[in-house]
Amino acid sequence: SAPETPDAWLNPHPVTSIRPHASHKGSYGDVAVIGGEGLGQRGMGMGGAALLAARAALHSGAGRVLLCLCDETGPGIDIVQPELMLRHFAALHLEQLTVVAGCGGGEAIRAMLPQVLADAARLVLDADALNAIACDAQLQQALQARQHRPHQHTALTPHPLEAARLLGASVEQVQAQRLEAALQLAQRFGCVVVLKGSGSVMAAPGQIPRINPTGNARLASAGTGDVLAGMVGAALASGIDTYTAACNAVFTHGEAADQWPHDLPLTANALACRLLPLA
Ligand code: AMP
Ligand code: MG
Repeated sequence: SAPETPDAWLNPHPVTSIRPHASHKGSYGDVAVIGGEGLGQRGMGMGGAALLAARAALHSGAGRVLLCLCDETGPGIDIVQPELMLRHFAALHLEQLTVVAGCGGGEAIRAMLPQVLADAARLVLDADALNAIACDAQLQQALQARQHRPHQHTALTPHPLEAARLLGASVEQVQAQRLEAALQLAQRFGCVVVLKGSGSVMAAPGQIPRINPTGNARLASAGTGDVLAGMVGAALASGIDTYTAACNAVFTHGEAADQWPHDLPLTANALACRLLPLA
């Protein structure tokens, strides 16, 4: 397994890191966030999840961020973050993209997953995507098949309940053995896993698992997981390896919460919009 690099781990991205002068937006990767709902809709009430992930990806330094809302009846712009480009699913070139899927999306995401799992070059699966996979053997096989395609890279970002569903275990069992649960998921699906919560656990086949030292209970707030998914997406899009991308994003997410001003409420949207580029 890869040697530990403590310096890189403790200070993965000095904010002073300078971008090569002749770089352009294509140098920092394209992230497509698939999820949410139409901005004008009130279905499951998860329309905001995809916006949070997309905003976080943009603020984390992704070159371009595409937003694909599962219910496409809403307006074609995020007026708070007009840099985001809204796209129809059919217009996405999945094989060229880093895809963040499942921040919202409900049932609609399930129908998109076969194509996403088959084609996305780099993939972060969260929330609704994980729940769909947990109860569908075909999707589980499609996820497992990705590890045999060397040009494809995958990270799962479950919270304890999502991890429990994927493992067919209880939340109590997962929480009693967090390291083992993360390792089991990584082994079973052949991908990088972030088991979230106080002391997020990162695991991947052939890698030394890690427990993230940053973060605090101010992150226990709706939408912060969606922000993390967008950050992992941006880190992956920058071209670094999947395990490093996940570890760095989790570290930086927690660090942002640790450095948050005492007198400022920590909300997911404020967190997403305050992030500094990962690369
Ligand atoms: P989610 O449950 O998907 O909304 O994700 C919540 C995010 O906040 C994850 O990144 C968790 O690791 C983080 N988080 C939640 N509660 C805590 C806590 N008590 N300490 C540190 N991180 C937390
Ligand atoms: Mg979540």
